[in-house]
Amino acid sequence: MRFTSCFLIVGIIISLSCNHNYYRTKNAYAISTVNNNVCKKLYGDVLLYAIFVDTRQAKPWTGYDISSTLDSIRKSIAWIEEKAKTNNVPLKIKLDFHVNKGKIPIEQHLYGESLSGMLFSNDGIDMIDNWANAIARKTKDAFTEDTSAVATTKNAITNRERLIARLRDKYKTDNVVLMYFINNYYTNEISLAMFTSAGLKTEFAIVSFKYPAVIAHEFLHVFGALDLYISPFERKRKSVKNRVAIMKAYPNEVMAYTYRQIEKLDISPMTQYLIGWKDSLTESDRKLLVGKKIKVYKY
Ligand SMILES: [Zn+2]
Repeated sequence: MRFTSCFLIVGIIISLSCNHNYYRTKNAYAISTVNNNVCKKLYGDVLLYAIFVDTRQAKPWTGYDISSTLDSIRKSIAWIEEKAKTNNVPLKIKLDFHVNKGKIPIEQHLYGESLSGMLFSNDGIDMIDNWANAIARKTKDAFTEDTSAVATTKNAITNRERLIARLRDKYKTDNVVLMYFINNYYTNEISLAMFTSAGLKTEFAIVSFKYPAVIAHEFLHVFGALDLYISPFERKRKSVKNRVAIMKAYPNEVMAYTYRQIEKLDISPMTQYLIGWKDSLTESDRKLLVGKKIKVYKY
């Protein structure tokens, strides 16, 4: 499964995430979102690069909307950094956003009526991939000179990889989180993280709401965190039972209870393993997350 999406329908979250996705390492299985792609482990210097996107399907960004969203992003960053500090993980998250000659939003319309409509249409994942790449291409004028390693030719930024390479070069860090923000007004729109599993495409998140907890939730997905709530799409009784146990064990978990005030949330040891803050899962967490039979990878 290549995406993890989080709906908000009057405070209820519906997930389409699929956690039963592993790949074989030397002597154990790795959960496919863990320690791979651009954003591997969440530590050290990290750049959160926000791109504000104007689409026909959402409200145009106003100066006020942008500044209040930036405040929410800062709040979620401060919360993640504080959790890192509590767990003795060195972490500094820098926030920057796309701006070109004073203009912040980039215009790129979605296909169809909404982000969720686009996602669930035929080729929805490819369409969102193309949408994100088209926006990445439009950032190129904001950069003066291309000295990044990937740019061996005179090509302009053609996609997310090239944008990430430029950002890595400019900010001198490998950990670059691309987050696209749309100024949504439908109450049932989604936020989602794409390509967080092992794969050829670089991951990114799209955030539809300015709630700090939603921003933190999507940010953690990019580093490998999984949804820990019960999806209405979940058909297996055993999985539902395990989710109930997880939510009971971790009643403040940000990956389970996202639509709350961020101050009341926490990052459980389970999520800490997934984002690289702990090198292993406890036996009970392993059973709840992946089942008895699977031995998971130790960092
Ligand atoms: Zn999620």
